[in-house]
Amino acid sequence: DGAVQKISRHPRWVRVNTIKSTLDQQLSTTFKGFRETDNLKDVLLAAKRSKIYYKDPNIPNLLALPSRIDLSRSPAYTSGQIIFQDKASCFPAYLLDPVPGDGDVIDATAAPGNKTTHLAAIVSSQLRTGQKQKVIAFERDKGRTVTLQKMVKLASANSVVQVKGSSDFLATTPGSGEFANVGAILLDPSCSGTGIVGRDDAIKMHLPEVQGGTKSSQKLDKSKKRKRGDEAGNTSEATATLNLHLDDSTPEETPIEGKLSERLAALSKFQLHILNHAMRFANARKITYSTCSIHFEENEGVVFQALASSAAKQGGWRVLAREEQVDGLKNWHRRGIWEDEKVSCDLDEGSKREVLNACIRCDKDTEEGTMGFFVAAFVRDAENVPAQL
Ligand code: SAM
Repeated sequence: DGAVQKISRHPRWVRVNTIKSTLDQQLSTTFKGFRETDNLKDVLLAAKRSKIYYKDPNIPNLLALPSRIDLSRSPAYTSGQIIFQDKASCFPAYLLDPVPGDGDVIDATAAPGNKTTHLAAIVSSQLRTGQKQKVIAFERDKGRTVTLQKMVKLASANSVVQVKGSSDFLATTPGSGEFANVGAILLDPSCSGTGIVGRDDAIKMHLPEVQGGTKSSQKLDKSKKRKRGDEAGNTSEATATLNLHLDDSTPEETPIEGKLSERLAALSKFQLHILNHAMRFANARKITYSTCSIHFEENEGVVFQALASSAAKQGGWRVLAREEQVDGLKNWHRRGIWEDEKVSCDLDEGSKREVLNACIRCDKDTEEGTMGFFVAAFVRDAENVPAQL
């Protein structure tokens, strides 16, 4: 559809941080004088700085604005009342749907903290006086831990979030008493970042890195990449994420060098490993697994392998079916895809289709204005939680 091609500009997505503000408060202050539209296309087609907004129908407290609207100096942004976060990046915390009965929530791979603060906002909105529920945020990288801590503080999420900085989630003991109260886990591990808007340019510009560059050439290129992100208008969340992914050293066991197919194989091995680790948490009942990758190998491929793993089978894990998902997401039409030959599947055709239908995708450069993204949720019923894992 040519019309869609022309209007597929990326909007500026703004999540109202309900720990510090409300949607109504923001509409009557930061967005005073802005016109509401009930059609996202109006925002995508609007002049880049027009005062127009669209309330997202899927994710609560989320607005879309024209791409170049400058809110970065607004008091609401600098004080953490609003957070720049792509719509797709809001799916995991919303799909995980933590409720007080779930106990503590782990964000296993948390920096820079967009999903951590989103989780904190959901948890805070439901807590009654005297109730306690924490979000435990792990981040392995020292530098990104600092960013995470800053973001948690700015969002006033400190009372709910416990940052486990410079800590490897894979080094945790899932059966330890420390995590006995953990009922839900959000897992958004390192990925190829191929769903990020503006990433294609970065890949084209830095082909050697993807196809066999060295660590030192990556380091040298960092400043250029940052600049490119800014030039492309990918400010704040997008740039932060872009930098994060471009700077994201893949796990030690994965080769930085090599062809894309080799990188994907190494990344998916790591992603399956960390997902299996999450599945071993003794009292966990819910997990979301997400990436901002467009590749089957890192997405549906990992879900199918995880379901076939002994961690899932012994633990009684299954996917959260589409009809069980939160209202805002069960109606989302982009679902899992299947690429033959990339993974073996011993499920019958009907079960395979159900799993794919439980997987949620976002595509970049569409009329939905999102980045490329993938998320699936796993659950197990109380009777399936083994007494001892
Ligand atoms: N969820 C974040 C957000 O929405 O702001 C983005 C997370 S980013 C895709 C993945 C992060 O996981 C990186 O910051 C990386 O350093 C971290 N990471 C990778 N492996 C990890 C591990 N084993 N334990 C803890 N953190 C890890």
